[in-house]
Amino acid sequence: MRDLARLPKAHLHLHFTGSMRVSTLGELAEQHGIRLPGALLDSDPLHVPATERGWFRFQRLYDAARACVRGEADMRRVIAEAVADDAAEGSGRLEIQVDPTSYAPFVGGITPALEIVLDEARAASVRHAVSVGVVVAASRMRHPLEARTLARLAARYAGDGSGDVIGFGLSNDERRGDTAEFAAAFAIARRAGLAAVPHGGELLGPAHVHDVVTHLHPDRLGHGVRTGEDPRLLHDVVERGIALEVCPASNVSLGVYPDAGAVPLGALVDAGAQVALGADDPLLFRSRLVAQYEVARDVHGFDDDALADLARASIRASRADDATRVRLLAGVDAWLAAPAPAPVLTARGGADRNP
Ligand SMILES: [Zn+2]
Repeated sequence: MRDLARLPKAHLHLHFTGSMRVSTLGELAEQHGIRLPGALLDSDPLHVPATERGWFRFQRLYDAARACVRGEADMRRVIAEAVADDAAEGSGRLEIQVDPTSYAPFVGGITPALEIVLDEARAASVRHAVSVGVVVAASRMRHPLEARTLARLAARYAGDGSGDVIGFGLSNDERRGDTAEFAAAFAIARRAGLAAVPHGGELLGPAHVHDVVTHLHPDRLGHGVRTGEDPRLLHDVVERGIALEVCPASNVSLGVYPDAGAVPLGALVDAGAQVALGADDPLLFRSRLVAQYEVARDVHGFDDDALADLARASIRASRADDATRVRLLAGVDAWLAAPAPAPVLTARGGADRNP
């Protein structure tokens, strides 16, 4: 079996706060004298039901983690470590989502907050040879006018180099806010050439995906995993070339599916969907990027050809520049061309059992 950490891939669904290492969160909390809920620092993945209460619990923990990031040095550390960790997992392209509003009070406004993220993304990209784009994400919990302000800010930094803004997102509880009211913000982002990458189709089903597709014209759907509950809608999403950022660990932690085997990964791929696997919030789900590919291999039976296709889909669905895409796709071919190492026999297999 080939090493999945060496498979070149693009990571298109990772949140700024959610990317944090548990150890970093603990250190930042101590530094700032913040008492964290125990659930944030233990080793268990979060498990909540897919209800408003479940989401509330997730959000409370998320907010507590976010409150530990207080200022430029902390922000730079989060980005630097996210890029370093992605590099270690074979990601050659990271598109990380941030809502600069949360950090604005510590650094003098949303513009400096975004500048810090972009500057560190650029620097970390050079250090780790990972191309890094940034998605500015608005929140469904806030007024749609705030989303417009963020879209205008994002538009000013649009580009396809490392440390540029490449997309505009919409996150938080899918059940909140009126999707249509965010259309104006997405129109601003689209005019600036940004990818539209709203969340949709994780907590809610096809009707919500239909709303998001109709009003926000996404290039990719954050999750979109429940699109297949309506085969006609899935067909439409595939026809429009809307990629799905599928995050199995997130789906299980948030109670959308009872276990990783129930995530309809194979069905989506078989229907022709472009699927890019992502980790979403490894801080809470305790599962990073390679683990999502391991789910595809170990739980869904994807062989190395199919895993290489998943990696190619992630690269093609990214907003990396052409040279980066060509280089990463060539890397996938090379990964597949290399002979698969012989399986290591474990004690159960008998090879290294003591006589
Ligand atoms: Zn997400």
